[in-house]
Amino acid sequence: MTDIFTPEKRSQVMSRIRGRNTKPELALRSMLHRMGYRFTVNGPHNRVLPGKPDLVLPKYRTVIFMHGCFWHGHAYCKNFRLPATRRQWWQAKIEGNRQRDQRHEDALRAMGWHVLTIWECALRNVAARDWLSARLPSLLGGPFVSRPAATAMVAEDATPYRAG
Ligand SMILES: [Zn+2]
Repeated sequence: MTDIFTPEKRSQVMSRIRGRNTKPELALRSMLHRMGYRFTVNGPHNRVLPGKPDLVLPKYRTVIFMHGCFWHGHAYCKNFRLPATRRQWWQAKIEGNRQRDQRHEDALRAMGWHVLTIWECALRNVAARDWLSARLPSLLGGPFVSRPAATAMVAEDATPYRAG
């Protein structure tokens, strides 16, 4: 079968499908970076872990998948609409992607990784990004997280109640 794209164009197209270095992914990276999270994009974990996670936060033993709403079939999302033609083919294709995502997620969890899936629509506009950044700390929380900053804040908050 002859590819309609040149190899460079093909890998550009596939990388867009895969979701790497897309605008939403870059927005997520800079959001995490601003919040002080450290992650790898092209480290050994990114390359060998099931599903090749987009971002890996080794300190949190957390992986992040940035999923395009269409290709990964974001249920009930307004950005996910099946094309009008060849619906069955698309449906099977996207269902296959969803099942593959689920298998990767299960495998990662079994290996002790915390898996976070962030849909593209969560980075679509300022309101969505604000919503996401407010929730990221709790989304990234888990049994592997040490949170000295949060502990310090609780101690400060307790001070006014001490006197009496
Ligand atoms: Zn979506």
